[in-house]
Amino acid sequence: MATKKHRQELIKMHNHKYSRHYTTEGYYCFYCGDPAEGLDHVPPISMIDTMPYEKRKKDRIPAVTVACCSECNSALSSRRLSTVDDRLMFLESYYDAKFKKQNAMWSEEEISELGFSLQKTVRAKQEKLQRYIHKIRGIQRRHTMVETHPTFEEHPTEEESLKYASKTD
Ligand SMILES: [Zn+2]
Repeated sequence: MATKKHRQELIKMHNHKYSRHYTTEGYYCFYCGDPAEGLDHVPPISMIDTMPYEKRKKDRIPAVTVACCSECNSALSSRRLSTVDDRLMFLESYYDAKFKKQNAMWSEEEISELGFSLQKTVRAKQEKLQRYIHKIRGIQRRHTMVETHPTFEEHPTEEESLKYASKTD
């Protein structure tokens, strides 16, 4: 488990390998569409060491940062998912599992029969369920909008260092 400090060091060391991936929607989570609160590194910063430029080029795996909400960010944490596609698939099942775990549907009549504090609890739970549904829809929508996904682009400085490395071999 990487500490926060260790993570900062990794970011400092590897950040130049990533390019920022923008969408026309603005500062919203690339995955679920909620307001973004930070950036997600794809592939994760903890993995980039194991994915040298040469390999990423061969497999056409872009190294990008995308806007991300805090919930998706912490769900992904440092999971070894190297593309936005893999990350979208993971997040969909993640929120789906959360939804199913919490999903005990109450009818309005049943709720009105509950005591006040229990009513509050049930309503809060239902709001949470709505949020999961909203996120899952956003994720599914993004998954199909492949034209907005990042694609591999050649990175001039890394390209250069690669040439240099092969010359010295
Ligand atoms: Zn999100």
